[in-house]
Amino acid sequence: MDLGIKGKWALVCGASKGLGLGCAQALVADGANVLINARGAEALEAAASSLRSIPGAGKVLAVACDITTPEGRAAVFGAAGGPGKDFDIVVTNAGGPPPGDFREWERDAWIKAIDANMLTPIELIKATVDGMAARGFGRIVNITSGAVKAPIDILGLSNGARSGLTGFVAGVARSSIAGAGVTINNLLPGAFDTDRLRATAKGQATKTGKPIEELLEARAKGIPARRFGTSAEFGAICAFLCSQHGGYITGQNILADGGMYPGTM
Ligand code: NAD
Repeated sequence: MDLGIKGKWALVCGASKGLGLGCAQALVADGANVLINARGAEALEAAASSLRSIPGAGKVLAVACDITTPEGRAAVFGAAGGPGKDFDIVVTNAGGPPPGDFREWERDAWIKAIDANMLTPIELIKATVDGMAARGFGRIVNITSGAVKAPIDILGLSNGARSGLTGFVAGVARSSIAGAGVTINNLLPGAFDTDRLRATAKGQATKTGKPIEELLEARAKGIPARRFGTSAEFGAICAFLCSQHGGYITGQNILADGGMYPGTM
């Protein structure tokens, strides 16, 4: 299927690996130019060269910076050869907050989580959405988490910050921009096989003394699909939402979790 995004400019944040890279790969494969971002320059450059090797790849730019800071966002929007703030597609993403016990989180921990997982996507939307509306096409996909629908107690920082973003998106997606060809959706990963998932399992392995592969196998068995999702699957869903065909889907929370969420809706 031709997604109709050839030559469009996409900003994909947190894209040196994992779900962000999966989204960048799918967008590049469908002909979009991309500017990818992550903090570590070396891993980001490696990701950029792998994207450039995709057949038919357009422009691939890489800006190493922390997207949760004003300086990071200024670097992304000021990148030489990039579209400035005139992105047609924006995929917001940054690392998730650490797990823990809410009794131990002071104000600083909350501000950090809210900054990364709520205010940064809002700033990126604010910077790009009016230009998209003026040009009559725009797609914003926020990578959030299945924990927005089914909260996990130890992920309280994530549950709280991402729910704030979810509420904001529900309103703005239905504002006047909806009539100007701009959609905003949240894509909610369940368990996907990325470094983050493995790092969490490694922490559990250290705590419990159980081998990491045993823990991963047990977790995968608990998912109706009996496996973890792949970044490629996640990227394909993201690319569809960013495509011309996704123009009538807005303000939605799309869960990709192999059937893990038990509710009817
Ligand atoms: P990952 O650790 O594999 O990759 C994260 C990427 O984001 C890396 O490229 C990293 O360099 C980049 N990054 C992190 N902080 C950044 C920052 N401040 N500025 C710029 N780049 C930054 O993680 P992932 O599994 O791909 O997860 C992506 C998001 O999805 C996270 O917010 C995570 O909490 C959420 N999530 C993931 C899963 C899962 O199963 N993988 C499940 C639920 C939610």
